[in-house]
Amino acid sequence: MGGRSLQVSLSLTDHSRSGDPKILLIVSTVIYSIALCVPLPYIRVMTQTLHIVGGGMAGSEAAWQAAQLGVQVVIHEMRPSVGTFAHQTGLLGEMVCSNSFRSDDSEQNAVGLLHWEMRAADGLIMRTADAHRLPAGGALAVDREPFAQSVTDALMAHPNITVEYGEVTALPDDGNWIFATGPLTSSALGAAIAAETGADALAFFDAIAPIVYFDSIDMSKAWMQSRYDKGETEEERTAYLNCPMDRDQYEAFIDALLAADKTEFHEGETASYFDGCLPIEVMAERGRETLRFGPMKPVGLTNPHAPDIKPYAVVQLRRDNKLGTLYNIVGFQTKMKYGAQTDVFKQIPGLEEASFARLGGIHRNTFLNAPTLLTADMRLKSRPHIRFAGQITGVEGYVESAAMGLLAGRMAAADIMGGTLDAPPPTTAMGALITHITGGAEAKTFQPMNVNFGLFPPVEGLKGGRRGRKDRYKAYTDRAKADWQTWLAPQAVAA
Ligand SMILES: Cc1cc2nc3c(=O)[nH]c(=O)nc-3n(C[C@H](O)[C@H](O)[C@H](O)COP(=O)(O)OP(=O)(O)OC[C@H]3O[C@@H](n4cnc5c(N)ncnc54)[C@H](O)[C@@H]3O)c2cc1C
Repeated sequence: MGGRSLQVSLSLTDHSRSGDPKILLIVSTVIYSIALCVPLPYIRVMTQTLHIVGGGMAGSEAAWQAAQLGVQVVIHEMRPSVGTFAHQTGLLGEMVCSNSFRSDDSEQNAVGLLHWEMRAADGLIMRTADAHRLPAGGALAVDREPFAQSVTDALMAHPNITVEYGEVTALPDDGNWIFATGPLTSSALGAAIAAETGADALAFFDAIAPIVYFDSIDMSKAWMQSRYDKGETEEERTAYLNCPMDRDQYEAFIDALLAADKTEFHEGETASYFDGCLPIEVMAERGRETLRFGPMKPVGLTNPHAPDIKPYAVVQLRRDNKLGTLYNIVGFQTKMKYGAQTDVFKQIPGLEEASFARLGGIHRNTFLNAPTLLTADMRLKSRPHIRFAGQITGVEGYVESAAMGLLAGRMAAADIMGGTLDAPPPTTAMGALITHITGGAEAKTFQPMNVNFGLFPPVEGLKGGRRGRKDRYKAYTDRAKADWQTWLAPQAVAA
């Protein structure tokens, strides 16, 4: 979009909390339009309302961001009249399980960096978490009920926000909408979304296989090859990374799988979908040879490190992102506890020193095949007046969900102002996540993703592997902070 590039810094909160709301609306519209580089003749007063369905992590953050920018917001929340198996209250911003927002280290941890970026953008979830912080070492843990109560109070008290309680069961034909209904989207709405997207593009359970950083794999033991060298191009013929096992290693691996601690399903989750994607430990329980005839079959592969020895079993990993920094272990969805997973998977030859970008899991989780369905600015391609945000877009976790709400709220506000807001660059934590879900991830095998450094474009010239990790992460986070500030500056609306 053309127009003048002006940088302004102002306090909308101060304006919007006192004085005539109509005048303030016009003032904030004009100022924010200038900040977003909207050509002045096209500035229009914000008479359009932004509707946000779901007042969880993402919906609450989206509402706050848009309202702070002067947009009128209605949050539609189905609780308490319609509940979920995990939520306990009718509060907005409820944490459904753990009370932790994970690491708060913004120099060495990707989720800590996401905290930092959200704080810099006046994020409601972060500012409320900081106010209710509990001692938890390097993690950001909170007192959960006062936290959710404060999120609710802040949203209810905002002059630009209204909350309407009730279930939304259909996708609207017009207006400005963000759907942030989360992993436990109500059945009626889930059916409406599936009718729009096609049933294959909306999942109701995730089946997450562990993801390993490529540079932590020992390639003196592993090798790249597709089964029977299938594929038209060299890239396809070497699409899989293979880790061989001899008989003793295989038997020890099966013993470890059978003995490992497992997580139970939550009450209300069902495992009836199971036969399509059995957890590996369940496959092992069905017979010691099941895996050797399933995902670990050793056929069609020759180990170049020992061409004369036929492996007894082979674990295959497949590229998980376009950058080639992440590999998922094929068919290894699991309900093993996290500690048990790292112990068991490090028994695989080649993965002894593996670093995991994400561990495996299987949960009740409604999520879209975002790489095929959403645009780079989170719109549903088939109905561009609807954006999605939060866990339903295929991110995983409270922080990641709130982060996608923050971006969706700002993007929707920009639209209502008659401007546009491009996604942040992939060198930032926010940008790395949104780039992954809207295009960087492999669509065919898409599963929910936590933020991690494997999603960031590499910083050139730095040492790889475990030794260089500290310097590398610092370089990623320094670059991200600078780029986030640059992205944020033209929208500068400080609370
Ligand atoms: C059982 C469980 C445990 C989890 N534990 C953790 C954890 O410990 N740590 C972590 O980081 N992440 C956890 N997650 C993952 C996820 O990060 C959280 O669920 C997070 O709350 C997602 O944020 P969200 O805003 O996308 O969805 P939610 O926070 O769930 O918010 C969605 C909101 O939409 C409402 N809604 C749904 N359908 C409708 C409808 N049709 N009309 C109106 N409103 C509707 C819901 O009531 C809810 O308030 C867990 C998920 C589940 C299911």
